[in-house]
Amino acid sequence: MIKEFDLIVIGAGAVGENVADRAVQGGLRTALVEAELVGGECSYWACMPSKALLRAGEVVAAARAVGGAEQAVTGEIDVAAVLKRRDSFTSDWDDEGQVKWVEGAGIELIRGHATFTGVKELEVRAADGTTTTLKATHAVVVSTGSTALLPDIPGLADSKPWTSREATSVKAIPARFTIVGGGVVAVEMATAYATLGSKVTLISRGALLANQEPFAGEAVGKALGDLGVDIHLGQSPAEVSRDAQGVVHTTLEDGSVIDSDEILVATGRLPRTGDLGLETIGLEPNQWLNTDDTLLVLGEDGAPLPGEWLYATGDVNHRALLTHQGKYQARAAGDVAAARAKGEPVHDQPWGRHVATADHQAVPQVTFTEPQVASIGMTAAAAEKAGYRTKVVDYEIGNVAGAAVHRDGYAGTARAVVDEDKKVLLGVTFVGPDVQELLHSATVAVVGEVPLHRLWHAVPSYPTISEVWLRLLETYGRDASA
Ligand SMILES: Cc1cc2nc3c(=O)[nH]c(=O)nc-3n(C[C@H](O)[C@H](O)[C@H](O)COP(=O)(O)OP(=O)(O)OC[C@H]3O[C@@H](n4cnc5c(N)ncnc54)[C@H](O)[C@@H]3O)c2cc1C
Repeated sequence: MIKEFDLIVIGAGAVGENVADRAVQGGLRTALVEAELVGGECSYWACMPSKALLRAGEVVAAARAVGGAEQAVTGEIDVAAVLKRRDSFTSDWDDEGQVKWVEGAGIELIRGHATFTGVKELEVRAADGTTTTLKATHAVVVSTGSTALLPDIPGLADSKPWTSREATSVKAIPARFTIVGGGVVAVEMATAYATLGSKVTLISRGALLANQEPFAGEAVGKALGDLGVDIHLGQSPAEVSRDAQGVVHTTLEDGSVIDSDEILVATGRLPRTGDLGLETIGLEPNQWLNTDDTLLVLGEDGAPLPGEWLYATGDVNHRALLTHQGKYQARAAGDVAAARAKGEPVHDQPWGRHVATADHQAVPQVTFTEPQVASIGMTAAAAEKAGYRTKVVDYEIGNVAGAAVHRDGYAGTARAVVDEDKKVLLGVTFVGPDVQELLHSATVAVVGEVPLHRLWHAVPSYPTISEVWLRLLETYGRDASA
């Protein structure tokens, strides 16, 4: 069978769904191809289940940190209830609800695995082996996401290691759990599993949360230690094996051996571009798809493919491996593809809605550990490396009245990195309990390039943790005009 559409989106993760929705709103006949579950990684094996696994521990920690409420916490976390609640967020790994949304949005869903057979042409192989040829009159968008990277460690692949998929869809919490990695997935899962009763060992080659301000990883490491997590920094597994009883033996470079019931590998992601037939359109398989800010895929010469017909959004373009940032790209790509198809002007200025410029310097991210890490834009080190003349302003969030009343002994740090030439914020990091909702104020300030002298007029309510903004400005000093 041959079907023709204006636009074809490969991959119905959060990102692909949004591209398709935007394209339909722009008047394009749009198909969305999905090989697994509609909703993708975020819904079933990443954001939602991981946050559901973490939430009970957060709530209990919050109650334990408030005199009076603390006395009400008399029992243990009910692990079975946590897993059941997690299952409700993944709809028991059933995508019926998301399929209804796709159909309601006027998108044609095609189930199966898509491979390019040529320019604007794909073959989709369904689970029953039947194939459909899809042709796009205007464009194809690759939104195939990423997959876990398994490092080349002797014995690891044969030891049935877990990736984030097994860790987030777990049915029984292992008594002893080894985690390899020091990034967001590793520290979030270490927090979740430790609060759910595992004896966790974490092995990280580098510092924890190495891309964040250094005090973030330090605070998270200390809190993990307080939860009983055994942390080995500056170490990598030299060898891994699983014995006949199912016990995993992880030998570190220093010769020490860690025994556990399961091992999670959280050491990075790979692009899902290996089985897409990219070679038929002149691109190399297994590579991230580089794009310009309108999400057009760039060839080896750095220019969009002839005819400007191929886009890539979400994890697969490696601009920012986060759902919200991928969905932002999706809105831009869906809109720009519709505009190009109709011969309308493309708004490709930094402020235009057809470009994903925020990917470069203004990516917000929350790490849902205890304490949380919420950051936007550049760290002090990154800003300095990029050549900015900066001033770094730190403030202990616990000194803010709103934080003190929020939790007894509130401990946390805020950092603002100021561009001294323009007197605007390049980056902001909050580390502390419940800082997640502070982040968007920082995002608005960074993206809007709000001058510090105007920020003085953004008065935070009393007594909220947001008063940290006032304290940061006071610490910076009154001379906030460029
Ligand atoms: C444990 C974990 C926790 C995370 N937590 C957060 C978080 O809290 N917040 C956040 O913002 N981000 C989080 N992320 C990152 C987030 O999950 C990803 O950025 C997001 O899922 C990327 O969406 P996507 O649509 O690009 O890719 P995916 O969600 O991976 O979707 C790609 C889809 O394409 C399909 N596909 C692939 N190849 C083909 C093909 N050839 N034919 C047809 N279909 C195909 C796949 O089946 C899949 O459904 C987390 C990631 C992990 C691993």
